Amino acid sequence: MFVTAIIAAGGRGLRFGGAPVKQLVEINGESILARSVRAFSTHPAIGDVIVALPADLAADPPAYLRDGRIRIVAGGPRRQDSVRHAFRAASAATEVVVIHDAARPFASSALIARTIAAAAETGAAVAALAARDTVKRVETADERGPFVAETLARDAIYLAQTPQAFRCDVLRAALLVTEEATDEAALAERAGYRVRIVDGEPTNIKITTPEDLPLAETIARRGKPARTGRAGVGYDLHRLVEGRPLVVAGVAIPAERGALGHSDADVVCHAVTDAILGAAALGDIGRHFPDSDARWKDASSIDLLRRAAALAGDHGYEVGNVDVTVILERPKIAEHVEAMRRQLAAALGIDVERVSMKGKTNEGMDAVGRGEAIAAHAIALIRAR
Ligand code: MG
Repeated sequence: MFVTAIIAAGGRGLRFGGAPVKQLVEINGESILARSVRAFSTHPAIGDVIVALPADLAADPPAYLRDGRIRIVAGGPRRQDSVRHAFRAASAATEVVVIHDAARPFASSALIARTIAAAAETGAAVAALAARDTVKRVETADERGPFVAETLARDAIYLAQTPQAFRCDVLRAALLVTEEATDEAALAERAGYRVRIVDGEPTNIKITTPEDLPLAETIARRGKPARTGRAGVGYDLHRLVEGRPLVVAGVAIPAERGALGHSDADVVCHAVTDAILGAAALGDIGRHFPDSDARWKDASSIDLLRRAAALAGDHGYEVGNVDVTVILERPKIAEHVEAMRRQLAAALGIDVERVSMKGKTNEGMDAVGRGEAIAAHAIALIRAR
């Protein structure tokens, strides 16, 4: 079955208010239009994608639409005119057309698939959500506002979304309807077809005004695939000598010996800094904060860690979680672990439950076991924001 997708992006989003046009507004770094088109252009059930754009954008489309699988047409004055222009450009092999509003960037692959399958079976299908609120039909308003004419039976009310899908013959007949409609399902109904409801998705929101953007950003973050996560490891060791403080994860611990090195010689901060820089493939602590540079000579290690997290942030990453093992023969760190976690979490700007800290000894073996050194291993997971 050959399926063509039509992305209706021909409007200018007037309720969104001005430049740039709504479909080019970015949500977490990717435009609404790019997200909507990508959901269809990467879908395994879809052959061709046709995007109806405002004439000026169609003449000079964004780079992400210059792809062999994507065709661009200029939209018309009404939504149904844009869809008609796009349908005219569809391949003759097309059997089912799935139409989607570019202002809904979060339709899932499963939603697209079940809408297509339903239309292939019964001719016309629309994604819709059962109403959760009680629905009132109002009558003419006066200056105090509208008045309720009747309360509708909620179980008979569905709120239409897109995608909407149609067999070619059904869509051809629907587009002959000349009255204006806000979606293609309404045209198919008027043309005499039964339109089947498929379960829509609460996250498949339509972005209409700037007030919708915070929710859109939340959905975009939640929908971020796990493959954008990146892991990095870090390791550090410092000699222990008398007459030095022992600072571990930003916490000064009473001890007979302290760590030898520049500044506070904090092995945990150094290991976590390397883990974060490593996860972002940004090199290591020595490259960014060389101790030969007077600026870093006496910088506290917790401050270097804060800077490393900010550097990862500049490259578009946030820290997901950090796990650390400290290897120290004595003293035991157990009573300081909570303070250490709080220090690291504050430096990284994340919740304390995303920071783990564990203590170990080396069972008296090697230099660490003899109490001559302290070491730390760290792993950090970062992800695109
Ligand atoms: Mg070090």
